Amino acid sequence: MASYDITDHKYDVVVVGAGGAGLRATLGMAEQGLRTACITKVFPTRSHTVAAQGGIAASLSNMGPDNWQWHMYDTVKGSDWLGDTDAMEYLARSAPAAVYELEHYGVPFSRTEEGKIYQRPFGGHTTEFGEGPPVQRTCAAADRTGHAILHTLYGQSLKNNAEFYIEYFAIDLLMSDDGVCQGVVCWKLDDGTIHVFHAKMVVLATGGYGRAYFSATSAHTCTGDGGGMVARAGLPLQDMEFVQFHPTGIYGSGCLITEGARGEGGYLTNSEGERFMERYAPTYKDLAPRDYVSRSMTMEIREGRGVGEGGDHIHLHLNHLPPEQLALRLPGISESAKIFAGVDVTKEPIPVLPTVHYNMGGIPTNYWGEVLNPTEDDPTAVVPGLMAVGEAGCASVHGANRLGSNSLIDLVVFGRAAAIRAGKVVDRDSAIPTAPQSEVDKAMGRFDKVRYADGAIPTAELRLEMQKTMQSDAAVFRASDSLAEGVTKMTEIAGKLPDIKVTDRSLIWNSDLMESLELGNLMPNALATIVGAEARKESRGAHAHEDFAERDDENWRVHTVARVEGNAVELTYRPVIEAPLTTEDEGGIALKKIAPKARTF
Ligand SMILES: Cc1cc2nc3c(=O)[nH]c(=O)nc-3n(C[C@H](O)[C@H](O)[C@H](O)COP(=O)(O)OP(=O)(O)OC[C@H]3O[C@@H](n4cnc5c(N)ncnc54)[C@H](O)[C@@H]3O)c2cc1C
Repeated sequence: MASYDITDHKYDVVVVGAGGAGLRATLGMAEQGLRTACITKVFPTRSHTVAAQGGIAASLSNMGPDNWQWHMYDTVKGSDWLGDTDAMEYLARSAPAAVYELEHYGVPFSRTEEGKIYQRPFGGHTTEFGEGPPVQRTCAAADRTGHAILHTLYGQSLKNNAEFYIEYFAIDLLMSDDGVCQGVVCWKLDDGTIHVFHAKMVVLATGGYGRAYFSATSAHTCTGDGGGMVARAGLPLQDMEFVQFHPTGIYGSGCLITEGARGEGGYLTNSEGERFMERYAPTYKDLAPRDYVSRSMTMEIREGRGVGEGGDHIHLHLNHLPPEQLALRLPGISESAKIFAGVDVTKEPIPVLPTVHYNMGGIPTNYWGEVLNPTEDDPTAVVPGLMAVGEAGCASVHGANRLGSNSLIDLVVFGRAAAIRAGKVVDRDSAIPTAPQSEVDKAMGRFDKVRYADGAIPTAELRLEMQKTMQSDAAVFRASDSLAEGVTKMTEIAGKLPDIKVTDRSLIWNSDLMESLELGNLMPNALATIVGAEARKESRGAHAHEDFAERDDENWRVHTVARVEGNAVELTYRPVIEAPLTTEDEGGIALKKIAPKARTF
């Protein structure tokens, strides 16, 4: 192995990731006086959260009646009864305070006439436990909500003396012999030095793995690095088969048009000019949840009613809305439509197609963000020293399908919860343990191997094979034969990982090496996704199985727990947490309200 220039650091807490979740956790840790480092492979405000357009859900009731119980009900139903009920209650209950906190930190929300935070309708958010009309619950800063939140949280973190390690790439976790996480090894991208962070608590906030697919709305940096690190540490991933397709990616580029566009009154049409969502979801129409709308669009295209030359996409109309409203509420997407589709939204419809958007699955945690390593005896056993928050984690509040604007609120609610929990479990007075040298050697051994990899397949080629396979075999609609074929193909593709070829051997700004490490992280995420999907013999949320069209609560209301080693995946299952945090007598939601029932809109 080549020799490396290694620097050691010691912190109470190390947060990996500076998106909304990582920054909110960092800020909360630093506010409590914990010595906190935040490590990020891109500049904090370039994290994918910056691209979030539509907004953040909280039952503020600024535009009409609303309450956290309704929000919780919608989240439970949205999850298709796969979310953990305690976590979903925690989310909906804490949401208003979390949004006011953001307001006080300085997020420049759009305003109503009275000066209150502006809220728009979003898919699946309703009133009266799904019986009433859609609710305006999604708080927005025009169509740049993520941008506003990220900049505010970064500024606040700096103010509270959090220390940032920017453009450091986390390679692997450092685990003690008895299974405690004690740190992380990083590669500094601009000078090639290696940095070992020893810590009492490591928080993974590395975001999703959308780039396991060919067409995704997420940034090229969304490569599931946290999931990769966790899998290599012998820890499991949860519910990976649930991948959200957003109904409105721009045809061709995959660039997102926010659901806020339909929230502001936009609607979809087929080649006959028909507003077809009225047929599929008579009550909520274009504002039905994403899995529902994506499937309806795919059905229209399959039945020959797609638009365009190939009849392979759908139209999204905003051209009936007043230009002033578009300029005020949707300026960013008006620009995206111009750049990526050459469309003037005030005059023509936007060509759109369901595009991979969000990963409901991830690193299993409880609602404090503590990582779980479920065993048969203890399905909620905690891994000491390790937390996961944001899209990298799976609390699980989104279950089988996430509602729009419920991710941004998840980032801040659980980022904050992780900090509260760390304040309790991290002993500030104890010495920071030194992570085992054998673990550093192991991580560096792997790094060195990838750096000098001289196999037969260039990284980009293998990545494309993976992305195309995932796109065709783990898609909006799935079937037994295509899933089985997908598992065979993906097992073969993952098996080729040791045979990649890296051409650049340097350590400074080596994007070839970084992309190879990222591919090594994408692979276990992708593999767990398709293997979990093949095994799940039902349809639930985003997992629409043609050969098992019904949801099967008796056999499948369970979380998939996937352990990946090389190209092999071992699946076990853990029960969904059905009990909420509080009973009806304590002011909580009545159990009968959230009991599973058919999910129609
Ligand atoms: C286009 C788009 C629009 C969206 N709009 C909305 C919306 O309106 N409302 C909503 O609720 N949700 C929305 N979502 C979903 C939501 O934005 C994301 O789920 C969320 O931003 C993820 O945040 P995060 O903090 O978990 O991760 P990210 O914001 O993706 O940040 C990940 C961080 O981890 C760091 N990192 C990753 N790997 C490493 C490594 N190996 N070493 C060091 N650092 C690493 C990165 O540098 C980055 O700082 C949208 C998503 C997309 C893609």
